[in-house]
Amino acid sequence: MATNDDVLCPFCGLGCDDLTVEEESGGLAVRSTDCPIARDRFAHTPPAEPPRVAGAPVSLEDAVRAAAMALGAAGAPLVAGLGADVDGVRAALALAQRLGAVVDHALSDGLYRNLAVLQRTGWIATTLAELRNRCDLLVVAGPDPAAFHPRLYERWVAPTPAFQNPPSREVVFLCGEPLDSTRAALANLPVTVLPGDPARVGDAAAALTAALPDPSRAVGAAGIAAEDIATLAERLRKARYAVVAWAASAFHGPHADLTVERLVRLVHDVNRQTRCAGLPLAGHDNVVGANQVCTWQFGVPLRASLGGGAPLHDPYRFAWDRYSDTADAVLWISSFRPEIPTFPTGKPVVALAPPGTAFADEPAVFIPVGTPGIDHAGHVFRSDTVVALRARGLIDRGLPDVAAVLTAIAAALPQEAAAC
Ligand code: SF4
Repeated sequence: MATNDDVLCPFCGLGCDDLTVEEESGGLAVRSTDCPIARDRFAHTPPAEPPRVAGAPVSLEDAVRAAAMALGAAGAPLVAGLGADVDGVRAALALAQRLGAVVDHALSDGLYRNLAVLQRTGWIATTLAELRNRCDLLVVAGPDPAAFHPRLYERWVAPTPAFQNPPSREVVFLCGEPLDSTRAALANLPVTVLPGDPARVGDAAAALTAALPDPSRAVGAAGIAAEDIATLAERLRKARYAVVAWAASAFHGPHADLTVERLVRLVHDVNRQTRCAGLPLAGHDNVVGANQVCTWQFGVPLRASLGGGAPLHDPYRFAWDRYSDTADAVLWISSFRPEIPTFPTGKPVVALAPPGTAFADEPAVFIPVGTPGIDHAGHVFRSDTVVALRARGLIDRGLPDVAAVLTAIAAALPQEAAAC
């Protein structure tokens, strides 16, 4: 059995690059970490299966032709999911431009809770490396991000800061309870839990912001007592490098971006006293990379229409789950996970996903593809957007990668679609 060391995990935005992954008769097994996401995703390696058209097995060439016919005949196609490495996203966006399609990522809801604030107010954000090496006070706002990024504390908070003399670090949970695994990872650090109402963490951030100039005048908020708000405001004022971290996908409700806006305002105002930065955590299925590619290719972020003229960005109208009602054909790409949403009936769906994907409704065309970091090499972006990491292929199941399939579909488009 082959053992692969220093394997990069492409499945969440932390980009852990220290995994040991063994090849077993049944596939792959992660040996070096208990991260449930990594263990589950690397273990999901069923054998290749043939593409299908209308539920019937066909050759890859026939499936590509059928996909090109379905997409080329559409007047308002949607190219979404975009769960692919950088090359796969580039190929998807190139095909979308040929089709005049709307483009979006499956997980863009959380992304847009952050981007909406970045567009409105700007922000001061930091990197994972700065968190590890400089932060002396980490405030975790809302539900524990470890539910989405299991090794956050082990990799980026528990290690001794490299650029502090003397090194010190404390962690405060604001309106959220740390998971048991988080408590274990932070066993050697001082941890304070202010378990207020997670749905009102924005109120707590606003109360902290108001208390910064004079903590003695703090008021309670979100179930947190005034004296606790005052104490945390004082700690923020005295920190050398404070970081406020959150996972926007854990914020619920129709105006979750306003919660992010209040956290960003807190970070802004702490900078009147000392150094402070925000750390928005995201990045599953390379959503950060997909947004980076769209921005550098077209000058606008995701949730954009490439339907002729200048690319048009509209974060409300072009959200994939809203636009799927309007679209008359869907190309859905999900190479990191065997999951496909259901779409309104009566429109052809072309699905690119790993083998073993279960469908509530059989798509018009299903093309099994490899997963970056398992079947082939590929680049994915880290949550903090500053690093594109290269994952390597570990096994060969004989599956094509997303970029190759989409390039073949583009080449097979009918002439009139190719001329869009
Ligand atoms: S924390 Fe994220 S990147 Fe690290 S091993 Fe788990 S899923 Fe992979």
